[in-house]
Amino acid sequence: MTDVSAAIGRHQADLRQCSRCPGMVPPVIVGNPVASPVYLVGQAPGAKEGALGKPFAWTAGKTMFRWFSGIGVDEESFRARVHMAAVCRCFPGKNPKGGDRVPDPLEIEQCSAWLRAELEILRPGLIVPVGKLAASRFLAFGQLAEIVGKQHRVELCGVAADVIPLPHPSGASTWHRREPGKTLLEAALALIGSHPAWRDVCSRNAR
Ligand code: SF4
Repeated sequence: MTDVSAAIGRHQADLRQCSRCPGMVPPVIVGNPVASPVYLVGQAPGAKEGALGKPFAWTAGKTMFRWFSGIGVDEESFRARVHMAAVCRCFPGKNPKGGDRVPDPLEIEQCSAWLRAELEILRPGLIVPVGKLAASRFLAFGQLAEIVGKQHRVELCGVAADVIPLPHPSGASTWHRREPGKTLLEAALALIGSHPAWRDVCSRNAR
């Protein structure tokens, strides 16, 4: 086991015990403890992920993994080779007006400490935020169309990385099924597929 693998294992053991946010529904959902050059950031787990014990385990995940299969990595390989994180790692509960509650600013800030620690440990070459909330942790923008389909260079926590945002694959969103979202999604996936960190992930055996 490498030093990075050991460090991410210790980090996840601490993260699983976190109970900083009283409004969140446990358990803490984490992906596999993968030491990967590609770091995926979702919004927050949904209602089903707690029982299934892994991120993107339900309908949005099916759509997202179909996107990644199209650029060479199926779901099983993705979970084994890409580090999967989120803006918040617990289910925020339902919004009385429909859908899942969006995490509040304090919850986002509290959970960002885990995200920053992961960036420092993993030092990824490519960050893939999924959805507007995740993208806003790395980029300043107004509309999603301003940033999807482009590669951005950022420096965070002393780590320089490329950021290629994706729209959220939720069935509730039509953004990625209509223009310009459809074309911008294709452009973003092509950029991810040709990025050196992604090619590294494609070529390596699961670690
Ligand atoms: S959302 Fe994040 S900070 Fe809040 S309790 Fe869950 S793991 Fe902890």
